[in-house]
Amino acid sequence: ALYEEDISGTPAELSPLPVQYADFAQWQREWLKEDVLEQQLQYWKDELSGDLPILQLPTDRPRPAVQTNRGKMHQVLLSRPLREKLKEMSRQEGSTLFMTLLTAYQSFLSRYTGQEDILVGSPIANRNYREIEGLIGFFVNTLVYRADMTGNPTFQELLSQVREKALRAHEYQDVPFEKIVEVVQTERSTSHSPIFQTMFTMQDTPRKQRELVGRSLEMVEIHTSIAKFDLTLSMADSEEGLFLAFEYNTDLFDPSTIERMTGHFENWLNEIVHHPDAPLSGLTLMSKEEQKQLLEEWDDTQVEYPYEGTIHERFEEQVLRTPEAVAVVYEDRQLTYRELNEQANQLAHYLQKRGVGPESLVGLCVERSPEMMIGLLGILKAGGAYVPLDPTYPEQRLQYILADAGIQLVVTQESLLESSWLPEEIQAVCLDRDQEMIVQESTLSPVSGVTAENVVYVIYTSGSTGNPKGVMVEHRGVCNLVHAQIDLLNLNPASRVIQFASLSFDASVFEIFATFISGATLYLGNQEDMIPGQSMIRLLQDNSITHATLPPPILSALDKSLFTDLKVVVSAGSACTKELVERWARDCTFINAYGPTEGTVCATAHEFNGNDSPHIGRPIANVEVFVLDQHEQIVPIGVAGELYIGGAGLARGYLNRPELTEERFVPHPFKVGERLYRTGDLVRYLPDGNLEFMGRIDHQVKI
Ligand code: AMP
Ligand code: MG
Repeated sequence: ALYEEDISGTPAELSPLPVQYADFAQWQREWLKEDVLEQQLQYWKDELSGDLPILQLPTDRPRPAVQTNRGKMHQVLLSRPLREKLKEMSRQEGSTLFMTLLTAYQSFLSRYTGQEDILVGSPIANRNYREIEGLIGFFVNTLVYRADMTGNPTFQELLSQVREKALRAHEYQDVPFEKIVEVVQTERSTSHSPIFQTMFTMQDTPRKQRELVGRSLEMVEIHTSIAKFDLTLSMADSEEGLFLAFEYNTDLFDPSTIERMTGHFENWLNEIVHHPDAPLSGLTLMSKEEQKQLLEEWDDTQVEYPYEGTIHERFEEQVLRTPEAVAVVYEDRQLTYRELNEQANQLAHYLQKRGVGPESLVGLCVERSPEMMIGLLGILKAGGAYVPLDPTYPEQRLQYILADAGIQLVVTQESLLESSWLPEEIQAVCLDRDQEMIVQESTLSPVSGVTAENVVYVIYTSGSTGNPKGVMVEHRGVCNLVHAQIDLLNLNPASRVIQFASLSFDASVFEIFATFISGATLYLGNQEDMIPGQSMIRLLQDNSITHATLPPPILSALDKSLFTDLKVVVSAGSACTKELVERWARDCTFINAYGPTEGTVCATAHEFNGNDSPHIGRPIANVEVFVLDQHEQIVPIGVAGELYIGGAGLARGYLNRPELTEERFVPHPFKVGERLYRTGDLVRYLPDGNLEFMGRIDHQVKI
C-alpha cells in the first residue's frame, strides 16, 4: 500500500494499530506465568512423557556426533486429482487438510523407520487474537504432534487420533516450545534436535497473485542450503495441486534418496485415499515398477544345474576325472583323489555294518589331518550325516551336542578318547585303532540309498538366545551352494585352497566341497596355523595358496603383499568393513559372502570392484531373498527390514525343535507350500540392487 502511495500519490489509508509488538510481548509475559503456565506445561509434560524416541530414518551416512545444518530441498507438484481426493477424504472424516496430511506423514514415517511412536514438530501461526493479526513481528510457535501407531490401525483410526491430539495441542499452543524443551527433555544431545527430528509445515491458504501498479510480482523460491532438521516436509495448497517440498540434511541424505522417498510418499498418499479403512500394514509405499524390480528382477537367480543327487556323488565324479590329482595336503602327508575316495569307501562300508544309513547322525571328532576328510566323506558315503564335534571344544559342549542329537556312533581317534567327553554307551569307531579292520573293507563306492533330500550334516549354532540348536542341512542345499561358488570363485584343478574353518562352522563345508568338486587341492593347517601369525603366513606362502575364506578379523591382521599367489579371498562370518575392501580388493578378487547356517553357508555374495561400500551383494544362484517389515510386507529400496531367505539352500529345520523351526521357517508369503527363513539380520536394498547389512535386529530398532 505504501509503495502504491509513493508511485501514484493515492493515500494508503492504513488504519492505526491498536497495539504494538512490544505491548503484546509484555502482555504475554504477564499472562503466561504461574498457574496459567503451569497448566499449559502440564499438558505437554503428560503428552511428552516417557522415553522420546529418536526418529530412525534410513540415512545414507551415519549421524555425526554434532548435528549439522547443511541442507537441500527437493520439490514436486502432486496431481490435482490426488489433491481433490485428499480434500474429499478430509471433509468426510471431519478433519482439516492439515490433519489429514500430518496423519499421512506420521504413518509414512512409521513405515519408513519401523517405529510406532512418531513425533513431528509443526509451526503454528499463533495469532489467535484479532488485535495482533495486522502486526509485524514474530509470533510463530512450534507444536509437537505425537502419534501412537501400535496395534496396526487403519488410516481412519489414526486420523481420528491425530485430530483429537491436534485439537488439544491447539488449546495449549501458547506455551513457547523452548519452555517445553526445558521441562521435558532435561538431557540434551548435540547429535540431534530435541523432542522431534522432523517438521511438517502446511500452507493452506492458496497463494494469491498480487498486483502492483506498473509492476508484476512473482514468487521466487529461496534455496538457503540450510536444513533446520533432519527432514522437513512442507506442503502448500494451490489450484494446480499440492506442492510438496522436502528440506533435508545433506550430511545424512543423498539427493537420490530423498527423490525416492518423495516417490514413496506420493504412493503412500494414493494408497491412503484409496484404502482409508484398511490396516496401514497392508498398504504399500512402492510403485508397481519398484515392486516388480524387487520381486522379479533382483530375485531372479534361477540357474539350471544339471545335477540332482548327493554331494559325495559329485565328489565321486570328480575322482573319475582327476584320480591322481592331489586332493588334500597336511604337513608332509597327502592323498590323491583316488586314495581319499578309496579310504572313505572302506570306512563307509565299515560304518554301514554298524548301522549307518540315510538319516543316521554320526559324530565326527577328529584332529585336523587327512583323516578328518576320510571320516567326513566316509560318513556321507555310508548314507549318514555328520555332526562335527570339534576336539578343541569344551567337554560340556561336546556332550550337549551328543545328547541333543541323540548320537549313537562317533567317528574319532584313539588319542582323543583319553579325555572323558564321550559317554560309554556311545559307540566309537577310531580311525587309528580300528584301521586294520577298516582296510579289510571294499574300496568301491557303497550303495546307501541316500538322496538329495537327506540330511548331509547337522551343525550347532548358538543364535542370540537359548541353547545351541542343531541345523539340519540337506544334500540339495550343499550341491547348489558348491555349484554357485565354483562359478563365483573360479575354482579349477590348479587351485590351492586353504581349509581354515573348524568343521563346526559351515564355512568349512564350502571350503571342503568346493575344492573336492572342482578338482582343486585342499590344504589343512594345524591348530597353530589357524591364528594369524608367522605360522599361518608360512602355510599360505609355502603352499602358494590361491584361495582363502577368512573372517574379517583375520583379514585385517594379514598383509596382502606377503601372498603373491593369493588370487581369490572371501570374507565371511561377520560384517566386512570399508577398510578391508580397500586393503584386499585392489590386488585380488575379493568377495564378501553372507549367510546363516540355516541357509546353507552362503545366501548372498558380492565381488568387490574397487571401492564399493562393503555390502553383502545379491542372492547366489537359486536363492531368493526378501526384505520384510514386521508385518511381512516388502520394504522399499533404502528402507531397513529383516532379511528372509528362501530357495535351494533352505535347511530342513532345527533338529528335534519343531516349534522353533516353525517360528524361524515361516510360510512363504508369495509362494504356496514354500518356506522362508527369518535371519534376524537387519538389511536394506541399495539402489543398485545390492543388500547392505546393518546388524542384528535384537541390537537395533525394533522393526
Ligand atoms: P552362522 O549361522 O553361525 O553362520 O551365523 C550367521 C550370521 O553371521 C548371519 O546371520 C549374520 O548375522 C552373520 N554374518 C555372516 N556372514 C556375514 C557377512 N558377510 N556380513 C555380515 N554378517 C555376516
Ligand atoms: Mg556360517
